[in-house]
Amino acid sequence: MALFVMKFGGSSVGDVERMQRVAKRIVEKKLDGHQCVVVVSAMGDTTDDLIDKAKLLNSTPPAREMDMLLTTGEQISVSLLSIAVHQLGHEAVSYTGWQAGFLTDQTHGKARIVDIDPARVKQSLDNGQIVIVAGFQGASDAGEITTLGRGGSDTTAVALAAAIQADVCEIYTDVDGIYSTDPRLVRCARKLNEISYDEMLELAHLGAAVLHPRAVEYAKHNKVCLVVRSSFNHNEGTTVKEEAVMEQGVVVSGIAYDKNVARISIMGVPDEPGVLATVFGKLADASIDVDIIVQSGVQDGTADFSFTTALDDRERALQVIESFRPQVPYHNVSSEVDLIKISIVGAGMVSHPGVAAKMFEVISKLGISIKMVSTSEIKVSCVISNYQLAEVVRALHTAYGLDTVEDVFVGGPQDRR
Ligand code: ADP
Ligand code: ASP
Ligand code: MG
Repeated sequence: MALFVMKFGGSSVGDVERMQRVAKRIVEKKLDGHQCVVVVSAMGDTTDDLIDKAKLLNSTPPAREMDMLLTTGEQISVSLLSIAVHQLGHEAVSYTGWQAGFLTDQTHGKARIVDIDPARVKQSLDNGQIVIVAGFQGASDAGEITTLGRGGSDTTAVALAAAIQADVCEIYTDVDGIYSTDPRLVRCARKLNEISYDEMLELAHLGAAVLHPRAVEYAKHNKVCLVVRSSFNHNEGTTVKEEAVMEQGVVVSGIAYDKNVARISIMGVPDEPGVLATVFGKLADASIDVDIIVQSGVQDGTADFSFTTALDDRERALQVIESFRPQVPYHNVSSEVDLIKISIVGAGMVSHPGVAAKMFEVISKLGISIKMVSTSEIKVSCVISNYQLAEVVRALHTAYGLDTVEDVFVGGPQDRR
């Protein structure tokens, strides 16, 4: 008997038929003699739809109320799934995040898990029940409901797997596993049998939606055996582990893209020690994550620089910049959207010169200019205009020898947001 955490994403429980299929899949596992803790996301586009509704009422809805609203999506899923399992003649119990013992900090919208008390979950397992936990949510010690950030149900699953020492954490989604790039964009993407925590962490941070970055962090830190597979078939998925076997000669193992990028440029800042520390300190105080930073020129004792941030943080970042103008004077500030960050990732990159140069060449041959670049030992990222995304990813995929002849399986709606 093994203890499994099985997480089902929104498209896997998108309607009643899918919900029934998931219920059968869980019961199958139970009948194989295993214990199951299930984590579920909101059905289909529920979370997006709730956000749209709130924004119709208020363009800047209070973060606390958004968390109250969005957590209802997962609450609907867990109760319906439990009802479906009962219909199949098995005992199940559904829990919200806080009932399952998820204690978080108070950062509404992107809370971090502080502690998990899985006593109730374990008790239910001991009682022979299938336990179904709402993903993406918890509560702070002030008793406030919080959410873990978009895609955060993966993190719920992995953190719970670590807390109850599950043997395996399976992430069921609408593709067969982790691919060399988004298989919705590149039909000849290569399915990976395994991938290292470090490479997956980079891909997730760089926009590969298949796993939430914090879920991979948790898995790496707690050595959780993590498998990504399809809820639409029984094909073998991709295992995320410490050391993955690298295919001979593969330098770049994955390509990720992130549409959630805004660029902010501040021109004419005094070129003095401590100025950058003040600017980025104030942004950090406002919980605004800054990614690539480029200083573009120093002239007459002033400097210009640009940085990228999440689209949702753009307005607040501009407000923060305006607020410190009396302390740090500058000539002007501007922002740019409709951008995309494309990244190549590979553990083998560090020992192969010319990998970045090839990326720049492929992009420039398409007549696209690169606005920003950032590199690390295992990745290179370029920020470019959004409008040729698919073309660039496909060209890079081919250039790094990643194309396969197999047509990939993609379940669920093809036109997902
Ligand atoms: P879920 O609702 O199951 O959480 P997500 O939409 O969050 O599903 O994640 C699955 C999607 O991730 C896939 O449908 C695919 O389009 C996208 N994706 C992006 N990059 C990759 C990749 N490298 N491998 C697999 N899927 C990817
Ligand atoms: N329902 C949440 C979202 O859409 C959490 C998740 O699906 O993981 O972001
Ligand atoms: Mg997801």
